[in-house]
Amino acid sequence: MQDSLSLFSPPPPHTRYVGRFAPSPTGPLHFGSLIAALASYLDAKANKGDWLLRIEDIDQPRCVGGADELIKQCLLAHGLQWDGDVWYQSQRLSVYKAVIDALNEKQVVYGCRCTRKLIRQHGGVYPGTCRQAELPLSNNAVRLCCSGMTASFTDNILGHVTVSEPHALEDTLLQRRDGIYSYNLVVVVDDIAQGVTHIVRGSDLLDTTAAHLTLYHQLDAQIPTYAHIPVAATETGRKLSKQNHARALDITSPEHNLLRALNFLGLSAVQGSTVSDILDAAVASWQYGNVPKMQEVIVDETESTYHTGRDI
Ligand code: GLU
Repeated sequence: MQDSLSLFSPPPPHTRYVGRFAPSPTGPLHFGSLIAALASYLDAKANKGDWLLRIEDIDQPRCVGGADELIKQCLLAHGLQWDGDVWYQSQRLSVYKAVIDALNEKQVVYGCRCTRKLIRQHGGVYPGTCRQAELPLSNNAVRLCCSGMTASFTDNILGHVTVSEPHALEDTLLQRRDGIYSYNLVVVVDDIAQGVTHIVRGSDLLDTTAAHLTLYHQLDAQIPTYAHIPVAATETGRKLSKQNHARALDITSPEHNLLRALNFLGLSAVQGSTVSDILDAAVASWQYGNVPKMQEVIVDETESTYHTGRDI
């Protein structure tokens, strides 16, 4: 295990705070993504920690050329300067392969050739059909055996969480049949490799934490603390997202955007006329207790950057 994992070299036990923002470059940042970036930044800086930027460009067909540069430009316009070099997941494929090899040596992964259609016939949740089939990993999807998975954890904002969504508890995909590594695999591998101690992200990813905890356990790595912030939605179940035509942030009004994002995060008392004044005041006031203890907050369409037009 140690040998095949040497490429991946987990750092020594956590001694200081490391946080991160890990956007997928599928388009420019919108109000919802600013909230996640800002919350993770404030938490890191309030704890005198590092705040890293990782571009999660693993699913290349979904990535948009140049979106990474737009994201960086937008973060900098909002005063959100990351620490250290930016990591790109597309440059770490050999590491992900080494981790799968190591998990294979441990016999906790298996090849799966079930089609989506077949899984739909089983009610849409993968029932572990190929677990005992001893199929090769190459040319098949690779799944992690998740039986007995830890589905409960303590979230710094939401408190005690038990994941019960059936999809989140199935044997999670680590690599698709077309060779693309899954978000669940690469996010954990990179958070471990970068020594991330605190994960602050949107609640749309809450359920994925169950599979992540299983991976941390299988990789003998120290589990980070989690804080899931509410996602901004324009109506129940309709979060601001690129697919829902959320408008790109206007980087010519960063002060306004920051104050609205802070209001969303329960810091409506923060004032300031410049980006750096606003961020300094926000770091000084940041507390998990201010953040609404909810998975979703409905934002006013006129107040939000929500865009209903068809020109995107
Ligand atoms: N790349 C993911 C996204 O853009 C976020 C990953 C994470 O914060 O765990 O939704």
